Amino acid sequence: MRDRLSAARRVVVKIGSALIVDHETGQMRQTWLQSLAADVAARRAAGQEVLIVSSGAIAVGRRHLKLSQSDLRLEEKQAAAATGQIRLAHAFQEALLPHGVTVAQILLTLDDTEERRRHLNARATLQQLLDLQALPVINENDTVATSEIRFGDNDRLAARVAVMIGADALILLSDIDGLYDADPRACETARHISEIEAVTPDIEAMAGAAATGYASGGMVTKLQAAKIALAGGCHMAITDGRVERPLQALADGARSSWFLANATPRTARKRWIAGSLKPKGVLTLDNGACRALQNGRSLLPAGISKVAGRFERGDLVMICNGDGAELGRGLSAYSSADATRIAGFKTSEIENILGYRGRDEVIHRDDLVLD
Ligand code: GLU
Repeated sequence: MRDRLSAARRVVVKIGSALIVDHETGQMRQTWLQSLAADVAARRAAGQEVLIVSSGAIAVGRRHLKLSQSDLRLEEKQAAAATGQIRLAHAFQEALLPHGVTVAQILLTLDDTEERRRHLNARATLQQLLDLQALPVINENDTVATSEIRFGDNDRLAARVAVMIGADALILLSDIDGLYDADPRACETARHISEIEAVTPDIEAMAGAAATGYASGGMVTKLQAAKIALAGGCHMAITDGRVERPLQALADGARSSWFLANATPRTARKRWIAGSLKPKGVLTLDNGACRALQNGRSLLPAGISKVAGRFERGDLVMICNGDGAELGRGLSAYSSADATRIAGFKTSEIENILGYRGRDEVIHRDDLVLD
């Protein structure tokens, strides 16, 4: 049986700052990066598609700007990222050059992975790059992202990218070889967990206990990433990336924790709907519409009794029954303003009310995921 990494068709590899940047000198760790480049080239030669999500912009840039204090303000981080990102991208380009691989830089914000129209744009660009055999190297667009609209950690960004692009494996290269039931640096009897099928409260409690002392993000954001990945049908591994050729080491059986997505196939769009972070509004349905949805039908305007929140066409909304219980989530074909006007009316009346002929359904069943 092939190992899980080698069995994947499309792989997202997330690289933590500590691996790529020397903490003492602020320099890129060139030898390690070259070994990773060899790994990536080998995967591609074996027919796998690879995308990289790399941290390190802030860690590299702060050095050049002589920002030595440990707690940087947001503006300082943004300045550091602006300085460091160009160096980070250059380092990838140089490392992949001997393998004949073209590197493409993509900088994303939270909205680019959440807001449907922008999500679709980002996805189309990534797909195009893969079709053209380029290697996307992705980071958060730290220079424009303010605190409210910032991921802040690349674990979740990488998971979001993996789901967005329909990857079947996400590999978090970290400074720890997986999840333990206690902090292994503090507790000798900490037990390593090699396979996890769901991020249950018990699993989350382990991360809480083990969070301190880990590098950026810690185990908490890794578990959040696992939830996003699993909801999108993507397996995720945490492994120690500090060794040379870390992907080969993982394929050869290096210690790791694998979070295993259940095998149910979903369409790419449904994957994203299920994994999305932030619904923009709530549609409350009457009983008839609740039943229709459970029977696999689309949501028509007639079944909507209340529209709350502000959203645009294409945004994610939550769907609730009359008691306020969540039934699921979906992409609305109408803005909140238009949905409010057509709520309770027949589909045939949409054109008269709005002055244009929109979609018959407010949420098409293909854009709907029930809990
Ligand atoms: N985007 C940040 C950077 O490139 C890193 C975020 C993280 O460490 O996860 O410096």
